Amino acid sequence: MRSFTPRPRALAVLLAGTALAFSPLGGSATAKLPVDQTAGVADCFTPSGASAKGGHGPDTRDISAAEQKAIEARTAQLLKAKAGRGVGVPQGALAAATVPVYVHVMRDAAGNGDVTDTQISQQIAVLNTTFGGQESSAAANTGFTFSLAGTFRYNNNQWHQDKQSSTYRKQTRKGGANALNIWLVDFAYLGIATFPWDYARQPGIDGIRVHYTSLPGGSATNYNLGETATHEAGHWFGLYHTFQGGCTATNDEVADTPAQSSPTNGCPTGRDSCSLPGLDPIHNYMDYSYDSCYNQFTPNQSTRISDMWTAYRA
Ligand SMILES: [Zn+2]
Repeated sequence: MRSFTPRPRALAVLLAGTALAFSPLGGSATAKLPVDQTAGVADCFTPSGASAKGGHGPDTRDISAAEQKAIEARTAQLLKAKAGRGVGVPQGALAAATVPVYVHVMRDAAGNGDVTDTQISQQIAVLNTTFGGQESSAAANTGFTFSLAGTFRYNNNQWHQDKQSSTYRKQTRKGGANALNIWLVDFAYLGIATFPWDYARQPGIDGIRVHYTSLPGGSATNYNLGETATHEAGHWFGLYHTFQGGCTATNDEVADTPAQSSPTNGCPTGRDSCSLPGLDPIHNYMDYSYDSCYNQFTPNQSTRISDMWTAYRA
């Protein structure tokens, strides 16, 4: 049986044809990581061979500022066009929807990697709590709720280890652009997500892959309260990491999440990694903190979720 050492949710974004790189802390080399063969994926990986938890440095999303800008421009264009056709909500209003969730439990041939139906319903409850802004008085209620639409169990050694992931996702994915598909696997990541702006190009692989031990009651120490799925769903809704872009004003395109230079590990109160205003948003679901440290999406993240939903998933 393969052992799993949880490490912080690390970052990489793959756009078509781009390479993925990270710079280990304390090392000068830039290593190329194995990448998924699919384009348009936000990887929250845990590079194998990294030192102790938090020992690898700021992974940088391999997306240029120009690409990020292009995504923003395209989103604005789509929102304008949809508003002109009366699609979506009036400007300034927040979209809201109940998201059907399909859970795919990718067990190995011997049945390892299973989770209970109770864990799955607890996971759905965590999504509703976190997107409902119920973990902090500072948290935004995004207006989105989640409803379990189906649970499917498979026995396949390859799929269990997230091999042939494009194939298995295309074969098993359910629902349309508004459906959140969660594949529970055993891999070297806590989770991986696709972005909403890539749905039109690759609808068959849309969704999130999550380590099965990260569900509530799972064995992933410090990451077993189900908030990896919240983090990955945040990407699925179009949120970047709070450390996207590092110490820049643009940062994650969200004004009320202070810039931070790198992912957070653990729950270091008072962390302030940029000279720009504000402490690091270590409690934000889009950082890499421990599950127990997480407690919020911000109001502006909620707005971004709403806009992205309207542009790409409504
Ligand atoms: Zn992430």
